[in-house]
Order: sequence, then C-alpha cells, then structure tokens
Amino acid sequence: MKHFFVAVIILIAFSSFDSIKTVKNIEDPVNKTDSIVVKKLFNSALTNGEGYEWLRDLTSNIGGRLSGSPEAQQAVEWGEKLMTDLGFDKVWLQPVMVPHWVRGEKEEAYFTVNKIKYNVAICALGGSIATPKNGISGEVIEVKSLEEAEALGEKLRGKIVYFSRPFNDTLIETFKAYGGCVDQRGGGARVTGKFGVLGVIVRSMTNSIDNFPHTGAMGYGDIPENEKVPAAAISTEAANLLSEKLKENPTLKFYFKQSCETLPDAPSFNVIGELTGSEFPNEYITVGGHLDSWDLAEGAHDDGAGIVQSIEVLRLLKLNGIKPKHTIRAVLFMNEENGLRGGKKYAEEAKLNHENHIAALESDSGGFTPRGFSFAPASKDYELFMSWKQLLAPYGLHDFDKGHSGSDIGPLKSDTISLFGYRPDSQRYFVYHHAANDTFDKVNKRELELGAASMTSLIYLLDNYLK
Ligand SMILES: [Zn+2]
Repeated sequence: MKHFFVAVIILIAFSSFDSIKTVKNIEDPVNKTDSIVVKKLFNSALTNGEGYEWLRDLTSNIGGRLSGSPEAQQAVEWGEKLMTDLGFDKVWLQPVMVPHWVRGEKEEAYFTVNKIKYNVAICALGGSIATPKNGISGEVIEVKSLEEAEALGEKLRGKIVYFSRPFNDTLIETFKAYGGCVDQRGGGARVTGKFGVLGVIVRSMTNSIDNFPHTGAMGYGDIPENEKVPAAAISTEAANLLSEKLKENPTLKFYFKQSCETLPDAPSFNVIGELTGSEFPNEYITVGGHLDSWDLAEGAHDDGAGIVQSIEVLRLLKLNGIKPKHTIRAVLFMNEENGLRGGKKYAEEAKLNHENHIAALESDSGGFTPRGFSFAPASKDYELFMSWKQLLAPYGLHDFDKGHSGSDIGPLKSDTISLFGYRPDSQRYFVYHHAANDTFDKVNKRELELGAASMTSLIYLLDNYLK
C-alpha cells in the first residue's frame, strides 16, 4: 500500500508537472516564427526603407492636393506609377466624383483697437462661402460653445461670432482634445446663420500657440442659402490677443475677407495596388491612408505619411518573400478631408463586386513614433488581437485598445470585418494638422519607417491568423 501511495504521488507530481508544461506552452504568447518574421520586417524597413523618399517626392514635387485640384490628379498618377513600378500584382484607378472647393485669393483679417491695427493670421474653412468682395466688418461676440451661441440667439444679429473654446491641454491623447473642440469649426456657421450673423471665426484646432491658422472642413447642413455665412479659422496667437482685447474693448471691429467657392463636383480616383492572395484571393485585407490633403501645406503628416506607409506594407511583404494567403490591397483614398467620397466609393464597389473584406487598417494620425493600434474587432477575434500585444510590445506597440480605426475604412464596417487604426504618438500631430507647417521636414525618417514596419507586422499577422 505504501508503495502504491508513493507511486500515486509520483504519478500526480509528474502528471501535474507535465500539465504545467503544456499549459505554459499553450499560453506562451509569442510564437517563434512570428517573432522572427516581425523582426525581419522591422530590420528591412529600418535599413532598406523607401517610404521617406517617396514622401519627399510627393510633398516637394506635388505638394498640397485638395480634391478636384490639378495637384490631386498629379498625386493619383504618382501613386499609380509608383505601385506599378514596384511590381504589385494589380494596380488600378477607381473612379469617384469629388467635391471641388477652391480657396481663391489669400484671405485678409485685422481688428482695430484705439486706432492700432492688429493683423490676424486667418484662413477660410473648407466648404465655406466667400465674404462680399470688400470683406465684412463688425463687432465680435465671443462664445465658447455652439450651445452658448444658440442661447444668445437674436443678440448675435449683425455680429461676427467668435468661437474660442481651446484644446483641453490636460488630455494626454490629443485626438480627444481635438474631438472636444472641433464641433465649433464644423458647426459654428450652421447653428448661427439663422440669427443673421455676418460671419463666423473660430480659434484654430491646435494645442500649439503659434501664428498658423488651421483649416478644416465645415458644413452648412441643410440650412437655406440665405442663412449661409462665411467661416474662417484664426491662429491661436491671434485668438488669444483678440480675447484679451475684447475684454478691454468689447465693441472693437473685426474685418475679414475671403474669396473661396464651391465649384461643380470633379472626377477623381482612389488608387489601388494589390498582392493577390495565394489561398483566399476573394478575401481582402486593406491597408490605406488618404491621398488628398488641404491646400495650405504639403500634407506631409496628413496624410502623405499614411500613403507611403501603406505602399511600404506591400513592398516589405514582397521584399521578404511573404506570399499572402489573402489578397492584400494598398488603397490611396481620395477626398477624406472634405467629403469622404473615396472611402464610401471603395466600400460601395466592394459590396457590388461581392468581395469579402475581413480586415482593414488605416494610417491617418501622422508619421510619428509607434504606440499601438486601436481597433473595432469582429467580436470573435478580440482575444486573438490582444494576444499579439506581447509580440509587438518590444517595438513600442503597447497601446491596444478598442476605438476609432480610420475615416476612409469606416464605410467597410460590418459584423465580420475587423477595422484597425495605426496609433503613433499624438503629441505633435495637431501642431501641424491642416496648417501651412505640415511639411516634409517635420517628418522623421526613422519614425516613419517604424510606423511602416508596425503596420506590415499587423497585416502579416492578420493574413496568417484570420479565417
Ligand atoms: Zn487626415
């Protein structure tokens, strides 16, 4: 009996030792092969990257490329040629009609206090109408929110409404601060037009105190033509000065002039490059950014960075001899900034052609140091994605959270697709966003390449594990 007990104890000891070993293997979060492939992808992106030079070419030789502009068309041809030269399996243009708004002459603005004239750095908001030819001049009413403006109602008549709520600098994630303010830019003119205001100005959407006005889309919704008023953004330095001077002299006069207009919709394209899947050619994984940019700058961080990173994903897979099982597409979306027509068209065509889209990744948060990915997973895949965190953490990819993916891939949303947004460090993004300083020199080569490698690694994992 004694021997029997000893034997049983030994047996239990061994079997539990075995089971611990097995459990440990199952739970080992880092698959060796994946780990080797990811390292290879980072190595080649960092020693043999091409995206930075593509970005130099796009930003320096074409520059700002607002939908409908000749530069947007040049960017389409640039993207098609680049992906063709890289030898992707298929490259084509997907036609889409886009809004065509033009800025016109450089805007002017100033205000006068005690006969001293203060010039104001200003730019029309995208989609705005022009002022009358000689500009408009009037007293200013400063408000901090759409609600405050609406509550003032008739008191706004004949005035210029100034929306001045700043970024909340205590928010670590600057996209949240942007989200907390941008309704003033988007909706300021829409909600105040009915009160007979002369025009609307808004503090620029940035946490930086400088003299760059930041443009961006605004909309009138479905208000009547005669209620539409011109809307513009002023720099944060000008905004601070204006708020200060308004306290001393609430009846000071503000003047601004702009000559922007909306022309008929124009023909344009999404640019698509593809590596055809070896096992599941009708199952698609899309990686993209937007090819259009605001006209004030070169669109380097927004979103030239996302464009070259998306093309790099396909090039790096090819370079490393990885033949994807699913079809991987790089999509250079047109018209994210002022219409999202490209994103909508891409989803529409996918549906029409019965394409099964299983995942999509967008890079539209700048070419900065990687932090992670936010995602809207198909529910069955959440645990799978979270299990990749340990594999990717050594590359600085720590932030894996459910959240916003990307505007252009949003229209693909369904119960069965997982959508991802590449999340780089956000601290400097809004310093440059939609302003004249979003230029090539603000992009760091190594940070851009780390981003491309991060995205390629995610696409590799999705291709390998998604069913
Ligand atoms: Zn963007």
